[in-house]
Amino acid sequence: MKYLVGRDFAFPEYLPRHPRSYDFDVVKMSLDVEVDLENGAVEGVVKYVVRAKKSGAVVVLDAVDIEVLGVSHDYFYDGAKLEIRPEWKSGEQVEVVVRYRARPRVGMFFVRRGKEVYMWTQGETEYNRYWVPLPDSPNVKFPWSVSITVPKPYVAGSNGVLVEVKERGDKLVYVWEMRHPMSPYLLALAVGNFKVYKEKCGDVELEYYLPSYVGEEWKFSFYNTCSIMQFLSQYLGVPYPYERYAQVVVPEFIYGGMENTTFTILTDWTIHDKHAQCPYSGFPCLELEDFSSHPLVAHEMAHMWFGDLVTAKDWAHITINESFATFLEALWTERSKGRDEYLYEIYTNFKIYLGEYSRRYSRPIVTNIYKIPDEVFDRHAYEKGSVVLHMLRSLLGDEVFRRGLKTFLERYRYKAVDVEDLRKVFEEVSERDLEWFWNQFFYSAGHPVLKVSWNYSMEDKAARVQIRQTQGEDSFPVYTLPLELKIVYEDGRREVKSLVLNDKELSFTLHGKPKYICVDPGFKILKSLDPQYPLESAVAMLEDEDLYCRLQAVEALKKNGSPKAVDALAKALRDNFWGVASEAAKALGEVGTAEAVAKLIEAYPVVAHPRARRAIIEALGNTRRREAAEFLDRVLHDVGESYYVRAEAARALGKTRWEFAEHSLRKALEYSSHLEVIKRGALEGLAELGSEEALRLVLKYAEEGVPTVLRMTAVQALAKFGPRREVLEVIRRALRDENFRVRYAAVAAALELLEPRLLPDLEERIERDLDGRIRRMAREVVEKIRKAMERGAEYQRLREEVEKLREEYRKLLDRVARLERV
Ligand SMILES: [Zn+2]
Repeated sequence: MKYLVGRDFAFPEYLPRHPRSYDFDVVKMSLDVEVDLENGAVEGVVKYVVRAKKSGAVVVLDAVDIEVLGVSHDYFYDGAKLEIRPEWKSGEQVEVVVRYRARPRVGMFFVRRGKEVYMWTQGETEYNRYWVPLPDSPNVKFPWSVSITVPKPYVAGSNGVLVEVKERGDKLVYVWEMRHPMSPYLLALAVGNFKVYKEKCGDVELEYYLPSYVGEEWKFSFYNTCSIMQFLSQYLGVPYPYERYAQVVVPEFIYGGMENTTFTILTDWTIHDKHAQCPYSGFPCLELEDFSSHPLVAHEMAHMWFGDLVTAKDWAHITINESFATFLEALWTERSKGRDEYLYEIYTNFKIYLGEYSRRYSRPIVTNIYKIPDEVFDRHAYEKGSVVLHMLRSLLGDEVFRRGLKTFLERYRYKAVDVEDLRKVFEEVSERDLEWFWNQFFYSAGHPVLKVSWNYSMEDKAARVQIRQTQGEDSFPVYTLPLELKIVYEDGRREVKSLVLNDKELSFTLHGKPKYICVDPGFKILKSLDPQYPLESAVAMLEDEDLYCRLQAVEALKKNGSPKAVDALAKALRDNFWGVASEAAKALGEVGTAEAVAKLIEAYPVVAHPRARRAIIEALGNTRRREAAEFLDRVLHDVGESYYVRAEAARALGKTRWEFAEHSLRKALEYSSHLEVIKRGALEGLAELGSEEALRLVLKYAEEGVPTVLRMTAVQALAKFGPRREVLEVIRRALRDENFRVRYAAVAAALELLEPRLLPDLEERIERDLDGRIRRMAREVVEKIRKAMERGAEYQRLREEVEKLREEYRKLLDRVARLERV
């Protein structure tokens, strides 16, 4: 029954959590705040019109570390909850008023940029309670108005529509109104020296809030906003539900973006120049795009429907918000770039989930066994969830699927829902029972693992095909899966066989000799595939027209690793679709022979897509050959090359450990690029080199005052130098830094070091950190260090042995390759 809980996600003391219920309804909230930018403080009056569900109901508000200055009724405050007791009867309506002051440690952030201060809030999951008393549960929805007083000439934005801006001496008062009922975590404010640009998208007012330090390049990030809005409105069958959509760019944001209704806040990291997006061509460059903000724009916009209009009633059901936003992001890719790009995004999402599954834990997408709400915002909720929705779409067909989405959104608009509500709508529109699907993919951990093999018998002129379900204990024991197989015969015949897999094992006979068999050619089913195909067959399948068949062929060839497989993979570097080329490059990197390296370098100039080139460069980092290092060095200093490719070259060059790399990487610390990716690549490359001079440089970048992107990279990279005194000292300090990203980098460094001496510092994070993501990661690292200590010497010995075996295997493959060639 392990599949009902998963593995390593819930710690022993974890208890089930349930949505909160309230004895009162909130009719409306009115908030009046004055923001003190210089002192990082806020003072306010919040009024709630509330209605009693029963006589004597207590109005319970969440309010952490707030100074209560006065309340309209009898109250009790314990530092976390404010209980207000009006004398009232069931059905009666009263207004309760709280005057308060706060200097928030989280939830409301103040960032200085030169002479300016930027303030932004982040409510999700449960952080608004640090700066305003409110019933902080997603299943409560109410309309609100917010008036914000700021010094001139600051701009203050919030959700909804602007009612007015008043002057009050040397201050400005902005009055915003959110007329639709919304969950409290979606309430947001931002204050700063913003330039505000506006345009119309149909009836909707689009706004862009840009910090004064951002120039005209902001347009590269946002030029598609209206197209994305029109696409989502049309696909979902529900027009964009609000009057306005603002995208607000702020410094030091602690996420990529946050979907506050009509007022999305985004990191300034999303701003980039033309070269970051289109390194080799004019703008736009859909076919050859490198970095792009559009996935982020699409993701946050998708939340305006899934998350804001219809909201998960508790964090356990966060799939309603995050799986949909991630899936709709992929649908925008399909609309703007085509089917293969969409499928490859889903394929990549599955691989990202697999990374979390194999390195961290497994859990059912829907689980109420968690402690920190932020914990469930993981690769299961986002990426795996998006693949599950893609599978549902494939199973029901696009038309029925869309009808389900429209019905769901219309039926539950402005309400809080759970995954059962979703199931019932899909059952209704499809006229099918879907419990089997929900049980396997929403309520169970893991995923199917299919081992597929076939043999041809000359004697019988028939092939025996065998499919086995080999998933582990933390996955559903026997999945029921509709599955298609594409069979291409030697004599040119082709057929697609549809079957239902509902046993551990299934086998059948084909008459004639297959050239190859491709499992699930349309990539409709979420699964891990273990293809055991004959070499010739995998080589032939590389030519198939279906993307997923070619990706499958690459996986089979990677496992094979023979010179013939290397030749075939080298050919796949020139595939029409860059995703196949990338996978082939990664595969060649893993094979790692001299032959494979030569093929990678040879193909580089003819590979057009920057992301495929990045994969080639990354693959070259797996080898210590001089010719690879020299090649990487040239790419690193080529100013016409993509920033991201050059950053990868810096990292890879460090990994080759050639002595000239140090000089080269030091020079790369002077190149500027989007998000300083080249400098960061150079820091990581230096850490790979591991020299004393490299350590000196990386330590310098880990110091206070260095821009966050560089500092966090340096802190994390320090782990590569091992648990030396000066390294541990910096990591220890970074674990207490006030910048979230620096602390997170320090936890990541601790994960790599698994150093017992860091245990007290990590334990302090578990107890004290204000950010739930850090508390969770620190806990995982502590568990891993303890386990590593238990295994002790045994662990170290095994690690060294594996490393030695890997090196020997590579040498052996090299020798085989040379023999073949001569
Ligand atoms: Zn999201």
